[in-house]
Amino acid sequence: MSNTSQPNPSSLCFSQLPLKPELLSNLVTLGYEQMTPIQAQSLPKLIEGHDVIAKAKTGSGKTAAFGLGLLQKLDVRNFRVQSLVLCPTRELADQVATEIRKLARSIHNIKVLTLCGGVPMGPQIGSLEHGAHIIVGTPGRILDHLEKGRLNLQGLQTLVLDEADKMLEMGFQDAIDAILEQAPKERQSLLFSATFPEQINWIAGKVLRNPVKVEVKGAENAGTIQQAFYRLDSQHDKRDALTTLLLENQPESCVVFCNTKQETFDVTEHLVSLGFSALVLNGELEQKQRDQTLVRFANKSVSVLVATDVAARGLDIDKLDAVINYDLAHDPDTHVHRIGRTGRAGEQGLAASLFTDKDGHKLLAIEDYQKITIEESTLPEKSQQSVYQPQMATIRIDGGKKQKVRPGDILGALTGNGGISGKDVGKINVFDYCAYVAVHKGAAKDALAKLEKGKLKGRTFRAWRVR
Ligand code: AMP
Repeated sequence: MSNTSQPNPSSLCFSQLPLKPELLSNLVTLGYEQMTPIQAQSLPKLIEGHDVIAKAKTGSGKTAAFGLGLLQKLDVRNFRVQSLVLCPTRELADQVATEIRKLARSIHNIKVLTLCGGVPMGPQIGSLEHGAHIIVGTPGRILDHLEKGRLNLQGLQTLVLDEADKMLEMGFQDAIDAILEQAPKERQSLLFSATFPEQINWIAGKVLRNPVKVEVKGAENAGTIQQAFYRLDSQHDKRDALTTLLLENQPESCVVFCNTKQETFDVTEHLVSLGFSALVLNGELEQKQRDQTLVRFANKSVSVLVATDVAARGLDIDKLDAVINYDLAHDPDTHVHRIGRTGRAGEQGLAASLFTDKDGHKLLAIEDYQKITIEESTLPEKSQQSVYQPQMATIRIDGGKKQKVRPGDILGALTGNGGISGKDVGKINVFDYCAYVAVHKGAAKDALAKLEKGKLKGRTFRAWRVR
């Protein structure tokens, strides 16, 4: 592997790249002028046709890096699958497809299709019959379509593995291998991963040919995040420590990371029994539950999410007030990735880690990796504060995109004709068959009454408060 040199700052504008004019003019309309560091390092190599392995996390602009690379090569008149992007979760696949569609707005008749597990097969089969240029999806479902002969990769030019570390953690190795067998050997392959555990080298060796390695030094803001480390006598003592930290800091949005699913269940149960607004996020959740959990946490009607690393992928939240490592991550890369979610957009967040004497090697690895000296903090006295509650409530509406319900319709129904104030309406999420709207708790009753009695798109939909 060869390392790219750091680009010269004067060459950071997209306009200096040999991109197709329609892609460049669209970037102007999107307001993308300067490349992010990951784009500046990878795009020139991507455009030259090299395979690339890049260390980049969500928020780095990685999607536009590989998105522009594959769009640059794409021939829209050739109506075959030319690019395939594999992602670990449906949320990420949806985000990636949305970004690629945005970047491809100026290319007429381009078809981008998402194929993910956890959603009905029927519509996907129908869409595949119509064909696509770019497919974005999760490995299991893509393999399923390949095996049934509904998807053909003979025309594939670019293969992207996005968040490769998480795909491996989620056990997609075999599915990826089987997909590779059906892809032409002559192709460009790109691998993006937030962390580089040992397995990544192994998969990179299988997928990539003479890749250029791209890693943006200093891209993690983790170095500037204030961290606190608390030593506890036993795993059991962590419960009280967590409660104390939550009560003292009262974070509006906090993710608590555990290393096992069982621990996520136990910790959530404990927090709920004390009256906290907490939900579990792990691989056991069905897609619908997972969607609802993510919506409620992101719209601030749930304050604590107790999650495993894999499940927390796709969590698209601007800034978390707190990340608490109930268990220290297995490797320092993951640790940095976890705490990097706090204090986004320059704001400080709480990054607290609980450890016991068994964790000595993990602490050393973090010190070494982050070039820091860890000093133990002392837990506050048992807090006298009472359990706090979120300000928002979530209302679910039994109508979505398929019923042509749009966010504006929901806002209009809530605030029109003497309804609640627009200030009381929070995030609105519309899915295919349902929608969620966050409202201030004090306005929840009136909001519900408006939705139950009023009409959306000329129809009455069932609506209820999610608890
Ligand atoms: P990603 O890391 O791919 O999830 O991208 C993070 C966000 O940055 C996305 O919302 C992109 O639309 C946006 N973005 C990506 N590249 C640029 C750029 N060069 N200038 C401004 N915004 C960008």
